[in-house]
Order: sequence, then structure tokens, then C-alpha cells
Amino acid sequence: MEFVSNLSKMSSYVEEPVQYLLLTDHDFLKMNELIGREIKIEFQKEKYCISCGNQFQDLYRMGFCKNCFYTSPEAGESIIRPELSKAHEGVEDRDLAFEKEYQLQPHVVYLANSGGLKVGVTRDRQKTTRWTDQGASQAIVLALTTNRYEAGLIEVALKEVVADKTVWQKMLRNEDPEVDLIAERKRLAGHLNEELARFVSDDTTLYNLKYPVKNYPAKVKGINLDKNPEVQAILQGIRGQYLIFEGGGVLNIRGHSGYRVKISF
Ligand SMILES: [Zn+2]
Repeated sequence: MEFVSNLSKMSSYVEEPVQYLLLTDHDFLKMNELIGREIKIEFQKEKYCISCGNQFQDLYRMGFCKNCFYTSPEAGESIIRPELSKAHEGVEDRDLAFEKEYQLQPHVVYLANSGGLKVGVTRDRQKTTRWTDQGASQAIVLALTTNRYEAGLIEVALKEVVADKTVWQKMLRNEDPEVDLIAERKRLAGHLNEELARFVSDDTTLYNLKYPVKNYPAKVKGINLDKNPEVQAILQGIRGQYLIFEGGGVLNIRGHSGYRVKISF
């Protein structure tokens, strides 16, 4: 079988284990079915911006061409830094209609264990997708807000006492440290001032996420398709947005957004 795809973030949904789908030119590829099989990924030396779709010699950042990175609302400041959201004041960054729809909806501030304790912000309705994208083994909601700005303020306050980055190497070796998220939630909620503490959620559900990985490698090495345009190995599993190959090579699919590849197995 052979599929061609302009790589983009895999879709995922929570089952036991998490299920992953990759969009190709023809159809979604059910990635879980490829685990245990030898697959070949060949970079076609073509890159397409994930926003405008045009072909470029090189993409600028996050799969965007330079122009889109600086003009598209999908790459606006508040996407990476929620505290810079302005739609709740009716102030436009790049496209107010887009920003209103995106920012003015319930958001959560969550704690997750993805190679270590981290804090993050996401839209409430897609929180489990966010957690699986990060390869979190466990997650819990800390606060529920009415918009992205409020969630951003809480995240900023908590970043002083907890990391906001995934430790991907640990996550891919399945070396998440033991973290009591319920206790951490209580501890961190105590760091919030009165104005922010009113958003602390009543929902204390602890989410456990299982990934489709047969064997975790003892050592991991990121694969860069610019340097190594051809990967051929047995797929051992998938966690976060990473394909994990026998031998410890790991390919970050999201990190190669816009790269055109041929996938065969
Ligand atoms: Zn573009």
C-alpha cells in the first residue's frame, strides 16, 4: 500500500489505547493498524504551507510560510500566548471574527504529566485531543474559564511555579515521573489570587491515557526529514504526535507539518 500526504497533525481520539489518524491525499490512514509493521516514509522534497497551501522551498515556522506566519489568524499571538488574547475587548489582532470564535468560548487550564508535570491552556471542548497530542499519561482540569484570556492569566500565574513544556524525550521513553495530579492541583490552586481562584473547576476527574506502543525505546533520537529524507523501520508505537520506530528513531509528525511524504508498507 502506498499513500501520499502533506503532513499535518494527526487526529486522535481517546480509546484504550488512543487512536490516531493521518490525513493523506486519498483518505485517512488508521495509523494504529501500522504498528508492528515495517513502514517506509520518503520525503518528496516538496513543502506546502498549511495555511495558504502554496509550495515553498522552505517553510518558516510551524508549517506556515513566512507570510502566513505573520498574517494568518491561525498563527496569531494569542495562539501561543493565550494571555495576549484581545477578542474579549473587541480588539482585533489579525481577524476579529476568527479570534472571537476561537477565544470567546470556554477554556480550561489543565495539569498534565507528559514526561513531567506541566500546565497548559486549551479549549474545553477539545481538551482530550490536546492531551493526547502532548502524549500525557494523566491529566486533570484545574480551572474552567469563559474565554481564552482568563485562562491565559491563570497559566501565566502558574508558570512561575510549574513547567509549561512537555519533556518529550522522557515521554517517549515512558519515563513519566510519579506525580500526584490531585495533590498538585490543590497546591497550585492555592497559588492563585482571589480573582483567578474563582475559576477553579469543580471537576476533579483524573484522566488516564493509554498509548498504542508495543515497546518503548531506552534511547530516543529525533528524525529530521531534511537531513534524513528516508525512514524505513518497524513502527513500534505512537505517542503524542510522534511515531516511534524500532531502534529509537522518533518522527514528530506535527513538527514536519507541510512536508510532502510518500508512506508505504
Ligand atoms: Zn502560506
